Formats: sequence, C-alpha cells, structure tokens
Amino acid sequence: MKFTPEKYAIADEAMKPFIDENEINEYLKNCKPTMEKVQQIIDKSLSKNRLSLEDTAYLLNAEMPEMVEAIKEGARELKKRVYGERIVLFAPLYVGNLCTNNCAYCGFKESNKKVKRETLTGNELIEQVEALEDNGHKRLVLVYGEHPKYDANFIAESVRTVYKVKKGMGEIRRVNINAAPLEIDGFKIVKESGIGTYQIFQETYHQGTYSEVHLSGHKRNYDWRLTALDRAQEAGIDDVGIGVLFGLYNWKFEVMGLLRHVNHLEAVYNVGPHTISFPRIQNALNLDIDKSSLVSNDEFVRLIAILRLAVPYTGMILTAREVKSIRDEIIRFGVSQIDGGTNIQMKGYTKKKDEQNLDEEQFSINDNRSLEEVIVELMHQGFIPSFCTACYRLGRTGEHFMEFSVPGFIKRYCQPNALLTFAEYLQDYANPETKENGYKMIDEKLDEMENDTFKHSLIKKLELIKQKQRDLYF
Ligand code: SAM
Ligand code: SF4
Repeated sequence: MKFTPEKYAIADEAMKPFIDENEINEYLKNCKPTMEKVQQIIDKSLSKNRLSLEDTAYLLNAEMPEMVEAIKEGARELKKRVYGERIVLFAPLYVGNLCTNNCAYCGFKESNKKVKRETLTGNELIEQVEALEDNGHKRLVLVYGEHPKYDANFIAESVRTVYKVKKGMGEIRRVNINAAPLEIDGFKIVKESGIGTYQIFQETYHQGTYSEVHLSGHKRNYDWRLTALDRAQEAGIDDVGIGVLFGLYNWKFEVMGLLRHVNHLEAVYNVGPHTISFPRIQNALNLDIDKSSLVSNDEFVRLIAILRLAVPYTGMILTAREVKSIRDEIIRFGVSQIDGGTNIQMKGYTKKKDEQNLDEEQFSINDNRSLEEVIVELMHQGFIPSFCTACYRLGRTGEHFMEFSVPGFIKRYCQPNALLTFAEYLQDYANPETKENGYKMIDEKLDEMENDTFKHSLIKKLELIKQKQRDLYF
C-alpha cells in the first residue's frame, strides 16, 4: 500500500482538535481486506490488543458476507471472554429541556416553539427519582438541554439532590451526566458533586455535516465540543463517555472518528473513554436532516461488532431508541449497558399512560418495556441483570480495562457484584414469579463456581441481603 499514514498524523496534544479528515478518508480508501486479513485483525483483538485506525478501516471495508459473519462471530466471542454474562441497567432522566441550540435532528431545538419547556424544580426532581427507585433503579444518567440556566452549579446541585433521595430500600448509587460542554472550572464544580461518567456526543466527526446540522447556538462550534472531554480530564474527570449520532454522515467515517477520539484520550491522558454510545437517528418533532446517510439495521449491527473489536475494553451503551429485536441481537456481541423502563418525557416517570404526550419527547423511543420486562427477557437470554456500582465507589477506575487485563477480575468482582445487586432487586422490587426465577438463576451461577472461601463469602452476603442488609459488594 502506497499510502503513508504518518504523513497525515496530527500530534495529540491536550485541548487541541485531533480529527484529520484526510487521514480518515485515506485509510478508508486504501484498506481493502482479504478474508485472511480480516481474520488476522479479529485474532489481534481477541488477543487483547486495541485495533489501530488502519485495522479498523479494513474491517469497515469488509463487505463479503463471510467477512461480515467472521466479524460478528469475533465480537460475540470477545464479549463472552471480556464481559461475561452480565448486563448493567440504568435509566435516563431529563432534568430540563430548555435549549438555545438548533440541532436539526432534535425535538428540543429552540425553533420548536410547540414544545412545552420545563425545568424540574428540586421537588419535581425528587419525585422522578423516587419513582425510579420504586422501580428498582440504582444508576441514572441525567440529561439537560444547553441553556445558561443549566450551568455547572445547577448540574452539580441536581446531582447532589439525586444522591440524597432514599425511598424505601431504594437509592441511586451512580449518577452519570449527559450535558453540554463546560469550561474547566465548570467541570471541576460538577466533579465535586460526585458524578460517575460525563458523556458528550460529538454527534458527527465530519466538520461539513456538523455545520449543516447545527444551525445556531453554542453547539455550532465543532472544536469546542470536540475538546470538551479534554477540559473534563484537565478538571480531574477521568471517567468520560463519547458518542456519535449515527445517520448524519457516512457511518464508516464516524466509526473512525470515534476511534480517533479514543486514541487521543489515551495518548494525552493515558485513559480511554469509559463508554461509547451510538444513538441512531429517530423521528423527532420537525426532524430536518438529509436522509442519505441513515444507517440500515444490517449496517448498524456491523458497526457495533466492529467497534466491539476495535476497543475491547470500553463499555458500550445501547438505548431504548432501538426496537427490542435489534437490542436482542446487538446485546450478544457488543453491549455492556442498556436502559430499562425508559421514559424521556419531562416528568415522564410519574405520568399516567393517558398523560403521555409523544410531541414532548426529544425523539421517539422504540422499546417501551418496563424495567421488570427487560430484566425477565435478559434472564431468558442467559444474562445476569446487574446494578453494580462497586468499582466506581471503591475508586477502581478504568474498570473495563481491568476486566480486560486483570486475570480473573470478572469472576472475582463483576459477576459476584452482579449477583448481589440482582438479589437486592429480587428482594425489593420483583414480582413473585420473577423473584423465583431470579433466585434459580443465582443458584445456577453459584453451582458453576469453584467451592472456595470466596464462594462462601458470596453466599454469606446473599444471605445478609435476604436479611435486609443492602449495598454489599466486593
Ligand atoms: N443537550 C445536550 C447535548 O446536546 O449534548 C444533551 C444531549 S441530548 C439531550 C442527548 C443526545 O440525544 C444527543 O447528544 C444526541 O446524540 C441524541 N439525539 C438528539 N436527537 C436525536 C434523535 N432525533 N434521535 C436519536 N438521538 C437523538
Ligand atoms: Fe439542544 Fe442537545 Fe437537542 Fe441540540 S441535541 S437541540 S443541544 S437538547
């Protein structure tokens, strides 16, 4: 291959934009795979190496059905080896839908005058959190529009409020954030409130498309958004999430953009993102985008398998934007976290069915199952539903990296903690049938374990949970 990537490589420096479209385009143009090459790259990933931009371009250009199947199979195998059988559950909670931006794809854009604009008061926020705790949730992501009202102090205050809400046996143990970029000082204030992950999606890494879809407001500034997580890192937030809104521009380019972002964070801060999200465009009030880059189901499944192989130790989040059948397929080979019982309307978790108004959503969601329904389905498929927050609370950051690199980490920590948090759910929130089936699953998993002191310690903790002790973990 004549192409010399070094020619294009931009040095990675803190706070400096790092996307070079020529570099990405050249890789995509030049990396033409054979079956042998594809298999070599899959093997590289299975032997615990992150893939390079070049490797990933080969996988993205693998179009022949047998190549695509090998990639999916590789991703399934990796998921089994690295993440085991547990799936972590969370719920999104919209704190405010005021917004000064006009993102062509979003129902909350400023020009949508029909949308009722609301910001939860302290008490309203508490009510939503209580409703989520009553369902059994332990992990939330708080979501905000971009508006001067939602500054760092406002965000930090909402996080503190959420942590204080304790209803019955319920509590929220991890609050993640999805909000507009802040200055370094702002990120410091938010960090102090005890957040988990700070997520910001670039939406598209392609500058021309970015300008076309961000019509007005601060979000028009591509570089400010691209370097947001650099500022978060400078402020001490080393737990960050990246994402692309798939459907705005060519999906292969966007996967390369995500990987370039991972490389940048690793090169400069020595830690990659904690999670990658891949929302796909859904219908929204006055959705106004060029539909030529929408991603088909087959392409979506492929891109997630490729991402799984490319960044084996990064958590991957799949949301209720997708229908159940797609969620079921993708979960097998890529995903470590999903939402359950999701409602993205303002005050949605306390609204009755006849009060729901789909025009008030940021976009439509396609999986309306309750948390319990999602949990029952996960069990049917052999997954252990988990609400674990142990690593983050014990200061074990880089947990996905540990899962990947520390021998026995999953067996020693992740799976037992999944079982403990699942047992809490079964005790406090499940209906009798789910409880019975859930405990059967726990017993099966215990039977599969070696009969050592560690297993006895887990059994003891499970007993304590039956006696109403909570929040036990390894
Ligand atoms: N206002 C903040 C911002 O823009 O970063 C918070 C993000 S927004 C409330 C959450 C994410 O939803 C966006 O980053 C975008 O990727 C996604 N989103 C927006 N419109 C969407 C649509 N029509 N379909 C699917 N996802 C959408
Ligand atoms: Fe506002 Fe975020 Fe929607 Fe853009 S995506 S209009 S910034 S809420």
